[in-house]
Amino acid sequence: MKRRPLLAGNWKMHKTVLEAYSLATEIEKCSAGLEDRDVILAPPFTAIHEVAKVLKDSCVEVAAQNVCWEEQGAFTGEISPEMLKSAGATAVIIGHSERRQIFHEDNEIINKRMKGALKFDLMPIFCIGETLEERESDKTFEVLEEQLRKGLTGIRSLEMKKTVLAYEPVWAIGTGKTATKEQAQEVHAFIRKLIAEMFEKDIADSVRILYGGSVKPDNVDELMAQPDIDGALVGGAALDAESFCRIINFI
Ligand code: PEP
Repeated sequence: MKRRPLLAGNWKMHKTVLEAYSLATEIEKCSAGLEDRDVILAPPFTAIHEVAKVLKDSCVEVAAQNVCWEEQGAFTGEISPEMLKSAGATAVIIGHSERRQIFHEDNEIINKRMKGALKFDLMPIFCIGETLEERESDKTFEVLEEQLRKGLTGIRSLEMKKTVLAYEPVWAIGTGKTATKEQAQEVHAFIRKLIAEMFEKDIADSVRILYGGSVKPDNVDELMAQPDIDGALVGGAALDAESFCRIINFI
């Protein structure tokens, strides 16, 4: 089945409002005419509104890097789905390994965030991935299955259709070490099979699974050529206009 490619840039905790404005302006230029793929930028919360303004007449959408499940209230430091939407975001990254590892977000809290995003119609980009230790002790599939089953608990088929998955091996994030195209394809095929078991085959066939972990201009084409890799979630290389422009123009 042909799935529409999706290239997303995660800016993490980089870029002031002014810097975000200039980077988004450059990406806006080089995304013109890209009609057969989706492009998303995920700036920090503080720059979402500015970036969304720059991109309003383009095909590039804006994502947040996290979201709260509550509508409003006493949740210091959190941002609600409606706040993100009012700033111009249409999607949100959930369960990034930095949230899991540095900020101790577990599968249960990530599941709440997933439900919050879906309830308010933000497209979740749900991240999963194993650490080096887990891979070396042959626990990759076990860990991924647990992250998927717990993170997607209570998500209905209709909601799953609106969800994007991202496989990001923790050992490949920001390390310059990419999973080989064979390693990534093997895991993506596993994820798709599990989604078919958990939901329905047509959902598994249509769900987009992005690869993330040191995606660069020189490896994006071979990764995107794999049958179960439908896109990329890009960190470091998304901070540089020239690199990200090359990535979104993958062949
Ligand atoms: C990420 O943070 O999602 C990521 C994949 O980072 P990098 O591309 O820098 O490895």
